[in-house]
Amino acid sequence: MAPNGQKHDQRRGLMLVLSSPSGAGKSSIARNILERDKNITLSISVTTRPRRASEIDGVHYHFVSEKEFMRLRDSDALAEWAQVHGNFYGTPRDAVEKALAAGRDMLFDIDWQGAAQLREKMAGDLVEVFILPPSMKELHARLKRRAEDSDETIARRLDNARAEIAQWRDYDYVLINEDLNVSYDAVRAIVTAERLRRDRQTGLYGFVEALLAEQLA
Ligand code: 5GP
Repeated sequence: MAPNGQKHDQRRGLMLVLSSPSGAGKSSIARNILERDKNITLSISVTTRPRRASEIDGVHYHFVSEKEFMRLRDSDALAEWAQVHGNFYGTPRDAVEKALAAGRDMLFDIDWQGAAQLREKMAGDLVEVFILPPSMKELHARLKRRAEDSDETIARRLDNARAEIAQWRDYDYVLINEDLNVSYDAVRAIVTAERLRRDRQTGLYGFVEALLAEQLA
């Protein structure tokens, strides 16, 4: 038992929030982290957005009707929710609570509105990273290259990008994503450092007690 009465044998997971305008490379960074770090699980959001051809229901998102989304929202089943680019998105609360209590870290690919809501309720668990594109020209090119969205959708996302970028100040860490490999390493370094925070480590009291009691031969 720690001096403040807090139990230190139960590690609580952290919440790694990645936000950026569409096309800044957030999804690639998220994928890389999830593939290389088996202690982080993706929080799978619910959304009313139509599924893209490359997406799988239950893997990338839980695709739901607007009626179902409102039912979840109104029954307090979402830890946060927002309307982004004309569609609704939200984080199922149950999965998050269970993962954190079991000591698993979670990654959230959510917008600034969602991050702001989590900041209100779960600040101690949050590690927030904002990813900026190197230029608006590059952002536009990346959105077009993705080619999974219509011209109208791309134009709307570019418009929204400016409002989204304006939120960068509220985040703990900010990356300019010029090179994906450099950004991968940076986010992994952030996770490594945040896991080493004294408050997040378990067993330190016992370890140090044993360390100090150790007899030298
Ligand atoms: P996309 O439609 O490109 O998958 O996502 C559009 C935006 O919605 C992205 O910025 C993404 O981070 C955000 N988003 C995805 N899921 C959630 C969620 O559960 N909550 C919030 N607030 N934003 C989300």
